[in-house]
Amino acid sequence: DGYTAQSLPDDGSLGSSLESLPSAVKDFYDMVALITGAGSGIGLESSILFAQEGANVLLVDINLEGAEKGAALIAKRFPNVRAVATKADVGKEEDVKAAVDLAVKTFGRLDVMFNNAGIMHPADDNALNTEERIWDLTMTINLKGVWWGCKYAILAMRENPTDESKGLHTGGSIINTASFVALMGAATPQLAYTASKGGVLAMTRELAMVHAKEGIRINSLCPGPLKTPLLMDFLNTAEKRDRRMIHLPMGRFGEAVELAKAALFLASDDSSYMTGTDFKVDGGLSSAYVTAL
Ligand code: NAD
Repeated sequence: DGYTAQSLPDDGSLGSSLESLPSAVKDFYDMVALITGAGSGIGLESSILFAQEGANVLLVDINLEGAEKGAALIAKRFPNVRAVATKADVGKEEDVKAAVDLAVKTFGRLDVMFNNAGIMHPADDNALNTEERIWDLTMTINLKGVWWGCKYAILAMRENPTDESKGLHTGGSIINTASFVALMGAATPQLAYTASKGGVLAMTRELAMVHAKEGIRINSLCPGPLKTPLLMDFLNTAEKRDRRMIHLPMGRFGEAVELAKAALFLASDDSSYMTGTDFKVDGGLSSAYVTAL
């Protein structure tokens, strides 16, 4: 019947059904998260936040040094959890399989897979100027890499050991990083990047439907423009930054940690009725109708 004001108890509590829903903090204890692109930006902030909430984390990056720095920082700040760094190229199937195997071998299970690694190549341009090798490289990392991540995460999540007393179950949460450019056309083209992120959204929806009954939730995260090396290395002049700024209703670029908080929500049971969604965290950008000053 759903809740009505009349069905709520008089004593001011929310009612047993709502109160029994686990909180993100509680259900992160004993959980295991694998995060790709964990050496920088969104992946690094998410690794730190997930560890703070009690998860054991495997930090995966092609840049091992970055991932190791993240793991060392977690070890120092949160000695109650374990963080391990490993090198993998998400565009290579054997690397992704090895990373998932390492998470399961090290921590015993895999609850959260955050397929977040991605590139935006400086030579990615419009239909006329983009070279085929840039297209292929971008697709391999941004789209095929997410496929490999989903494939091996699904296989691992099906095998998760259960322990009812701790609330541990099979299944899990997979989060795939797309982008706002998968939802809107940008007049500043990066054709391969945009197409790869559109592919992430479409693939995620279909995977979410196929695996919904197995208790595996799969959602996309659509960040707006952020103050991370990926974008700031590209927007290397005030003119380029100002051209984007007029489209940002809040008048600022986003912070990686603001995406980490959204990823934490999608990873936790707090989002238990969400799957196949395009979760926008874009400061309102994709809802804005803006004209130049
Ligand atoms: P970032 O450049 O700060 O971090 C990306 C990380 O991915 C780096 O540590 C890099 O070494 C790693 N990486 C790159 N190629 C890899 C590969 N083949 N295998 C494994 N790791 C690899 O970028 P970020 O801003 O944190 O971006 C994270 C994700 O968010 C990306 O998928 C990006 O497309 C997406 N995104 C970013 C923005 C933005 O404005 N920064 C906007 C929308 C979407």
